[in-house]
Amino acid sequence: MPTPLRRSFDYLPPEAMTEQAVAALQPGIRIEAPFGNRQLVGMLLAIKDTSDFDSSKIKPVTKILDNQPLLSGKLLALSQWAASYYQHPVGDAFANAIPTLLRKGAQLIPNTETHWQLTTEGKGLPEGALKRAAKQAQLVSLLQQQASLSRAQLDNAQISQATCKALIEKGLVERVEIAAQRYDHNQDCLKSAPLTLNAEQQHALDTINTHSGFQCYVLEGITGSGKTEVYLQLIEQCLKKQQQALILIPEIGLTPQTLSRFQQRFNCPIATLHSGLTDRERLLAWQQAQSGEAGIILGTRSAIFSAVANLGLIIIDEEHDSSFKQQDGFRYSARDIGIKRASDEQCPIVLGSATPSLETLNNALQGRYHHLQLKQRATGASAPRFELLDIRHAPMEDGFSPALISAIGSEIERGNQVLVFINRRGFSPMLMCHDCGHVAHCQHCDARMTVHYQQRMLRCHHCGHQTALPDRCPECNSNQLEFRGSGTERSEQALKRLFPTTEIQRIDRDTTTRKQAMQQMVDQVHKGEPCILVGTQMLAKGHHFPDVTLVAVLDADGGLFSADFRGPEKMGQLLIQVAGRAGRERKAGRVMIQTHQPEHPLITSLVNDSYHQYAKALLAERNSSGLPPFGHLALVRAEASNLPQTDTLLQHLRDQVDSSGCQIFGPLPAPMTRKAGRFRSQLLVRSDQRRPLHRTLQQLCSLAEQHPLAGKVRWSVDVDPSEMF
Ligand code: ADP
Ligand code: ZN
Ligand code: ZN
Repeated sequence: MPTPLRRSFDYLPPEAMTEQAVAALQPGIRIEAPFGNRQLVGMLLAIKDTSDFDSSKIKPVTKILDNQPLLSGKLLALSQWAASYYQHPVGDAFANAIPTLLRKGAQLIPNTETHWQLTTEGKGLPEGALKRAAKQAQLVSLLQQQASLSRAQLDNAQISQATCKALIEKGLVERVEIAAQRYDHNQDCLKSAPLTLNAEQQHALDTINTHSGFQCYVLEGITGSGKTEVYLQLIEQCLKKQQQALILIPEIGLTPQTLSRFQQRFNCPIATLHSGLTDRERLLAWQQAQSGEAGIILGTRSAIFSAVANLGLIIIDEEHDSSFKQQDGFRYSARDIGIKRASDEQCPIVLGSATPSLETLNNALQGRYHHLQLKQRATGASAPRFELLDIRHAPMEDGFSPALISAIGSEIERGNQVLVFINRRGFSPMLMCHDCGHVAHCQHCDARMTVHYQQRMLRCHHCGHQTALPDRCPECNSNQLEFRGSGTERSEQALKRLFPTTEIQRIDRDTTTRKQAMQQMVDQVHKGEPCILVGTQMLAKGHHFPDVTLVAVLDADGGLFSADFRGPEKMGQLLIQVAGRAGRERKAGRVMIQTHQPEHPLITSLVNDSYHQYAKALLAERNSSGLPPFGHLALVRAEASNLPQTDTLLQHLRDQVDSSGCQIFGPLPAPMTRKAGRFRSQLLVRSDQRRPLHRTLQQLCSLAEQHPLAGKVRWSVDVDPSEMF
């Protein structure tokens, strides 16, 4: 049942149901049953003869909603496994795994298609009756030969909507809904021919194709090395075996480009599952996967739970991407669940990335995963060249050093495009009074307000609180207010001043709120005119800008001194991903990185060696400090309207739990203690082994559920947290 309780519930069969009918019920169907004073939709997990509960109190199920299971036994087991691994209420885990409409009790949508056919009157129409309407006559004659026609068939015959409508009005033609024609998976799945692979790609493809059953592969390939082409050819093999392929891509990557690459290659139906769908679209796509109709299922995080009739292959593209880990509620990692799923279903899984996560890289280096590398760019373009710009002592202009300004200028003069990356939106991250030192803070969070200059606003990027940009200091009434530091908006303004005749495009969350805005900007850039793109990490992911020859990173130092132990890993991944946008085609590219730490060993390793070497150095550090992947972590977060309450609860948990085999740190205030008006603290649980960690967490959850403060303090458990706040 979809409740916050970490358990399942016993019910009796519906009252009127015969014993025979009850015996025929299968796990994986939905039921509707009373819960408290409400009716909820739940999932049947198992049928048993006895219950640990007082049988006089067990209530009957109100209604059985499905004849056939929606989820296979394997998928039921996977969701239950995930709920227990992430210490999450099993009912809520199921609610995450199925489309909203099914969760609300809706029925599957019949798979029908609109067709046009002749009415009785139309059938009896004397020949030549439509002499003066050639198109209408053509349609009638077509329908005399073929019982009915679909929209696609009408389009092929160049018959318009208007022609159909005219005949419907004359009572000669009618619309009918008929069972949709199913795609014939025996036909050739290819729409266009695959590329000839280079030796590295071929080796990867052959290695994966020669094994059978479950195996986890890491495809580590620099940007532009042709990973996607390898995926396409793996999918082709999968389709030829009449199996379905499930491909996961990051939230931000589901651009029309990705989909169109798949559509250009394959004939088969492709189901897409992402956050931009309506509930109905989502259910239709889910059904296409569940029924076996879709050969390919392409989706973001939650697609890992989609029912797939005949799964033959899982691909996780950009496996390091943080969007694969859900950051609230059911905090699962779609990548890790994917590996478990592939093992249950005995099919291969491929984790692809130019910058694999340290967890994945470690598994590959230890030989637990099969490691495949693509080191060459598939188009023959050379890899971008890195240059560090030492900005100590440099006279900076709104974050740009003179060397960088002149480099941008000369690329523009040569007719090239430039990408400027800064990992912060808004105009400036800090508003400060020059006379008294007052700094604008959010009144609900331990955070500074960000200046949004064009809109004359101060905004908190953590809770959304906003106020008008003041003209005077609220403390001392001085008008000497200063904007400290830069965000994309300020960089854009500076570039407009420095390069007044050049087209400048800003790409960040503020400029892409309109649905098509991102795509329009990308299309504009693809025209190839010289321009400067300035933006946040939105620019780093998935896009392909063939005419960009210079990538400038305004500030690389943040990640080096991050409070989060994953900071350097994330910084490295981001820099390499941004760099990968440069010189992807004919033109050679370079990457200029501004830093105050030109001798920092991490920066120099990233720039002079490779991500692979850099990541290995980070792994050695993690090993010596016992951090993941060399130790396992879980974070217990608590928040309430006052700090003593969260600390009382967490301290109680720490005191009462049997923590043998684990270390527990805390209660500690969260790095941002106050957020959106709530106080937050946390316990960190660490263990060398998974088993004691999970035993401790399980006990911790039941202690928390029973605690009198459980109603006042919101608490959650994050197993394998990717963010430490
Ligand atoms: P990745 O996914 O590793 O970033 P892509 O698959 O997008 O790389 O490939 C980069 C470019 O190289 C694309 O334009 C693609 O069409 C081209 N490409 C990939 N493989 C080959 C190949 N074997 N021969 C020629 N071009 C290729
Ligand atoms: Zn002041
Ligand atoms: Zn705030």
